[in-house]
Amino acid sequence: MSRRRPVAPRTARRTAVLLAAAALGLAACTAGSGTSAEAPVTLTTTVAPTADPTTSAAATTTSEAPSTSTSTSTTTETSAAPSTASASASATSEAEATSTVAAPVATEVWPDNSMVPHIFFHSLVVDPERAFNDAESGPGYLDYMATQSEFAKILDQLYAKGYVLVSPHQLATVETDGRVTPKPLALPVGKKPLVISIDDVSYYEYMDGDGFATDLFVAEDGRVRNNYTDARGVTTQGSYDVMPMVDDFVRAHPDFSHEGARGVIALTGYNGVLGYRSSPSEYAGKNPDLDADIVTAKGVADALKAEGWEFASHSWGHINFTDSSLGGIQADTAKWKADVEPIVGPTDLLIYPFGADISGVPGYRGEKFDYLKSQGYSFFFNVDGSVPAWGQWGDAYLREARINIDGISMKAAVEGRQVLGEFFDVTSVLDPQRPASIAGS
Ligand SMILES: [Zn+2]
Repeated sequence: MSRRRPVAPRTARRTAVLLAAAALGLAACTAGSGTSAEAPVTLTTTVAPTADPTTSAAATTTSEAPSTSTSTSTTTETSAAPSTASASASATSEAEATSTVAAPVATEVWPDNSMVPHIFFHSLVVDPERAFNDAESGPGYLDYMATQSEFAKILDQLYAKGYVLVSPHQLATVETDGRVTPKPLALPVGKKPLVISIDDVSYYEYMDGDGFATDLFVAEDGRVRNNYTDARGVTTQGSYDVMPMVDDFVRAHPDFSHEGARGVIALTGYNGVLGYRSSPSEYAGKNPDLDADIVTAKGVADALKAEGWEFASHSWGHINFTDSSLGGIQADTAKWKADVEPIVGPTDLLIYPFGADISGVPGYRGEKFDYLKSQGYSFFFNVDGSVPAWGQWGDAYLREARINIDGISMKAAVEGRQVLGEFFDVTSVLDPQRPASIAGS
């Protein structure tokens, strides 16, 4: 994993986080997540420490949980998301008998689409015994991963709290001239929008045998499932990671998804995607099944998109956009577009590895942004685990912060940080197979 070794970061704390991750060969999307709630993370650690805190949008939102009821909200009557026709409805008229009909649902427009909570995960630990006790990677898994059992409980609690999955593309429109404008988001009264994303869904080589699923595939029924090999070497097919678990949950609770939204899958390219060693730049001449794997991976991506999932670039090489030169970003972007885009299609979503943004709180300007915009990116996501939501509208972009859900953030919650309590009760979620230390660092 030496190719992903990050450039020396700017603060001692962040140095420790990144070096630990690099030493473990882990995809540390959560750099900075261990800080206290009074110190917004991404926006102060990824830039020179000259940002005036009084201009910090994050700081102004520290204690402001999103509210579904404001004076600017409008309440309207609309049809709910498509559902199976009810017998009573279909009997009322011929028109209704041939279409799906749902009872009207009172909705209200979310007041500010830049203030939509966004939580993210990595691939789930299926076997905590193997993952957490792995001599090389165990501490990193404790830091950066949640377990299958934790995620199942989190889903239940998110739903019980009234969250509903939305897509970034339901928050803003990218106009033909490149401008990004708010899009009205009407949710059932009492529901709260939530974006989820999953980083590094490659089932990296270093994870092999450590108690994770090994890939995603399209099952005979058309649904996307995981292959998982247990400690005895027995492989089973089922829902062993975020994507199929969310799909199962939405089937049981259709109102957990707003108009079909699922989540955003953030992909690198250096180990291929979705469990397939599918990147020609890395595996040509090394993977004898390269061509077939590309075809298979594209089938999985197509099935995920049909279900409502979306894909983001997470850079090809898990690079640090703060520290990388423009030339480095250009070279990496070209590799992503060569290796990954043919499989998942073009995307306007960019999820920064390490949460390392190209700019601090001041709005985007300059050559890095101009280049990324020219490559089609209009939605940008960093990491800030200190506030329930943070966002910024630019003329040509929407930038939002994401909250890491992992051992680091759950440990911080147990020690008193308030943010995760907006979404679930950490104590009741924690996997009993986690050690008392919760995290690994
Ligand atoms: Zn990552």
